[in-house]
Amino acid sequence: MIDWKFPWQAQCLCGQVSMTISEPPMASFACHCRDCQKLTGGAYSLTLMLPAHGLQSEGETEVGGLHRDSLRHHFCTYCKNWLYTDGFAEGLVNFRPSLLDDSSWVIPFAETFTCERLPAAQTGATMSFDRFPDESDFPEMLEGFIKSGIHPR
Ligand SMILES: [Zn+2]
Ligand SMILES: [Zn+2]
Repeated sequence: MIDWKFPWQAQCLCGQVSMTISEPPMASFACHCRDCQKLTGGAYSLTLMLPAHGLQSEGETEVGGLHRDSLRHHFCTYCKNWLYTDGFAEGLVNFRPSLLDDSSWVIPFAETFTCERLPAAQTGATMSFDRFPDESDFPEMLEGFIKSGIHPR
């Protein structure tokens, strides 16, 4: 059994938005797609995929990015930090683990959109996908994440 050491606390850069995580992540990702490069201003985004009820958010947020209903990116209204994304699947949320008070244990198990990866962006992920994984890839990926033992130390 993995000791997840709940709850986890997270905050945006300015501290206006506090988040509490109380359910185990189902997967961890690095995404190299161009949208993630632009949203982060970095080489790739980091994600923990969580059951939506496992993330509590307190403080004012707004939708940013491309404002698609199928992909709602939530940001802090003051510091404009990218916090989490929902709308892509019922009951799931993609949380940005860089915001955790302790993000030192976070390793992406899978990386996506390596077709758009910047040359210097190496993530050490176990599984790599050219684009997004197919639905048929999910069981292996979710099992692999749990077996990998990635968790808070
Ligand atoms: Zn903020
Ligand atoms: Zn992406």
